[in-house]
Amino acid sequence: MIANEHRCWVEVSRRRIAENFRAVRDLVGSGVEVMPVVKADAYGHGAVEVSRVLEAEGARWLAVSSVAEAVTLREAGLQAGILVMTGFLPHEAEALAPLRLTPVLHDPDAIASLERLAETAGRPLEYHLKIDTGMTRLGTRAGAATIAAAVKASGRARLQGLMTHFASAGNYESGQTEGQMRAFEEILSALRAAGVDPPFVHAASTIAIAYGRRDAWHNLVRPGHAIYGYVSPARGPAPHVALSVRPALSWHARVLTVRDVPAGSRIGYGGTFETPSPMRIGVLSAGYADGIPHRLSGRGKVIAGGHLVPMMGAVSMDVTTIDLTSCPDVRPGDAVTLLGREGGAELDAQQIARAAGTLSYSVLCGIGARVRRVYVDG
Ligand SMILES: *Cc1c(COP(=O)(O)O)cnc(C)c1O
Repeated sequence: MIANEHRCWVEVSRRRIAENFRAVRDLVGSGVEVMPVVKADAYGHGAVEVSRVLEAEGARWLAVSSVAEAVTLREAGLQAGILVMTGFLPHEAEALAPLRLTPVLHDPDAIASLERLAETAGRPLEYHLKIDTGMTRLGTRAGAATIAAAVKASGRARLQGLMTHFASAGNYESGQTEGQMRAFEEILSALRAAGVDPPFVHAASTIAIAYGRRDAWHNLVRPGHAIYGYVSPARGPAPHVALSVRPALSWHARVLTVRDVPAGSRIGYGGTFETPSPMRIGVLSAGYADGIPHRLSGRGKVIAGGHLVPMMGAVSMDVTTIDLTSCPDVRPGDAVTLLGREGGAELDAQQIARAAGTLSYSVLCGIGARVRRVYVDG
């Protein structure tokens, strides 16, 4: 089946993914490893295909959220190192050694469990340890002495990386990031003084890369959003964005039907929109089950016939109604653009997110599983 036959699909540009990865690599330089983040099905872009592109570009590491995501990549034949950022639960432990997965541990006590797994596996297992420097989510707040003792007590579970994660990297009105960076530096120096020197040290995701927080790059960075072509706007007196990336995904749906309706027609669930005059409406074959945020009801836009036109009434599960009064040429079966560029008009995940009162991350990850992913080289 070719792209043109789908009702609702995204088109992902392999070239853009590759270019965005190279842009990060060029910015951080050869002394810094780039570990692209392909969790959440590569932010909706399709983790297997995206990872293949990244491996072909030379990525030696990929980061995922869960063991299940890592299993999907290994089953598809991906060879890169895989960092499992939320660690592992007991029932997932036996996948680690055979699939060569590298868990992030969030507690020095977990090192002993990994040591036992390594003994069973009959070979060393590497891990990264996450430090909670102030985000208060995952990571340990144990002191350097406790951590150093746990690291040294295990011979087969080996510390390969020390990491942290920033809560407010894009907020230049807040000192939270500087505070987190200081706390991370302190624990790193104390560990080194105690003879623990992790090969990889990492803290930066897209925002800390793109806005040039070089002190946070250490020798590995973890870009997610940037790989897909996005850098969120910063708050306050931020430096210029030092990274140039472009969206890799566009999203399309076909018009199911076009109707001319009289004034006073109430459109969709709840009858929230009543036509003030005779109007031409189009019913799209995509709704919130496909990932169109329900919050776009009455306030979202799509690109039809090269022009931005409003959504009307409530977004429903499978269909969304749009105003085609100014687009007399759009016919049933034609495709409109939900996200992307068409004619002179453009809509990106950032704009959609603003209209929906959410994050661009959430718009991309929210693209539904039933939406076909189509990959193009260009
Ligand atoms: C998701 C995630 C990233 C990537 O963040 P982006 O803002 O998409 O670059 C990096 N590190 C951790 C721990 C994450 O959970």
